[in-house]
Amino acid sequence: MSTRAFKFDTLQLHAGQQADPINGSCAVPIYQTAAFKFKDFHSAELIASGREPGFEYSRISNPTVDVLEKRIAALEGGTAALAVASGAAAVSYAVMNITKAGDEIVSAKSLYGGTYNLFMSTLPKYGVRTVLVDTDDAENFERAITVNTKAIFVEALGNPNMDIVDFEKIALIAERHRIPLIVDNTFGTPYLFRPFSHGANIVVHSATKYIGGHGTTIGGLIVDGGNFDWGNGLFPDFTTPDPSSANQIFWERWGNDPALGNVAYINKCRLHYMRDMGASLSPFNAFLLLQGLETLSYRMEKQTSNALKIAERLEKHPHVAWVSYPGLPSSPYHELAKKYFPKGASGILSFGVKGGFEKASAFVESTRLFSFLANVGDSRSLIVHPATVTHGQLTEEQRLSAGIRPEQIRLSVGTEDIDDLLWDLDETFGKVFSTL
Ligand SMILES: *Cc1c(COP(=O)(O)O)cnc(C)c1O
Repeated sequence: MSTRAFKFDTLQLHAGQQADPINGSCAVPIYQTAAFKFKDFHSAELIASGREPGFEYSRISNPTVDVLEKRIAALEGGTAALAVASGAAAVSYAVMNITKAGDEIVSAKSLYGGTYNLFMSTLPKYGVRTVLVDTDDAENFERAITVNTKAIFVEALGNPNMDIVDFEKIALIAERHRIPLIVDNTFGTPYLFRPFSHGANIVVHSATKYIGGHGTTIGGLIVDGGNFDWGNGLFPDFTTPDPSSANQIFWERWGNDPALGNVAYINKCRLHYMRDMGASLSPFNAFLLLQGLETLSYRMEKQTSNALKIAERLEKHPHVAWVSYPGLPSSPYHELAKKYFPKGASGILSFGVKGGFEKASAFVESTRLFSFLANVGDSRSLIVHPATVTHGQLTEEQRLSAGIRPEQIRLSVGTEDIDDLLWDLDETFGKVFSTL
């Protein structure tokens, strides 16, 4: 039988799913169960000790969740994935899996607000410190690395300014220092951006956004690129017996699995952090995320092309002070966008209205089709004022350092008809700037 490497549009519908041998269910069945009956004593022992694959308890793994994990691993081109209850859990576990007190992370300073808090406020309480760097010069990452650094962290497209880093330069720096590069690909999606092809080692997602795509479900994903040497001496937790997992040595057992390849990172994450901290994704939420994932490429095509048209219109608008969208030739990130995002720079953009905070706040509460709320990646268009909402928990100084300005508005452009969206924005400018 010949084999074929299926393409994206095929994988988003089929990857990770096996024919249902009992009832022939065409859709992925929802295994809404906490636990699974063992066949017999011997197989219980093998599954519980991790020596044989199988399902035991849904905190650790579940057949519905398993399809989502395999599908995202296939779409990203990784070896395996772990689904978790939220994007925040994905970022936390991804970093905690390779750090302990005394370790450091070097991160791009333009970050999702929740990730900023995790890195700057919560993880330091456990002794893990993050150094934030300005990304416009990749060498800043190199300069911030010390003997204690265990990872570099960047977002595919910075939130909310849509800045892009030179991933390949940063991946080379990470490689030189024998530490992994973690990319939060939430805004990129595997359709528009393939971090592993550019040297990243771990990808995380808030599946809540484009992957689910319908604004119904909170979820997160961690994907193992299977391309990092955890036996390089800097990660002793991978190379010494683990007393909490029957003394297995993760790198020996999972560094080169005959069927899966290098899955040491993701298995350690599942067996330590999912087992002990338990932010598991429910089977029903995995099912909803799978429904969304089936149409990811089509939604991204439309949302990206809608966003570019809106950015072009806003750039010429008399009431607009500036537009941040890397798809625009005027963007300082346009060349990087062409290299790393050849299919388009995603559906999120931000712009500043003339008239500052006062006009921006009036604008966000006056649109008809753009819903005023704190989310992105929905198939509906969304609008928010980052300085008070998504980054509202930061101090004024922290906000300015993250590049968030009082006159700034962020749009997450949906799949509506572009003429209707342009009409809504025009009407809103009319209302907000009317001199009557
Ligand atoms: C939303 C988001 C997160 C957090 O995800 P949740 O699913 O809300 O927990 C992390 N990173 C980025 C870039 C996000 O947009």
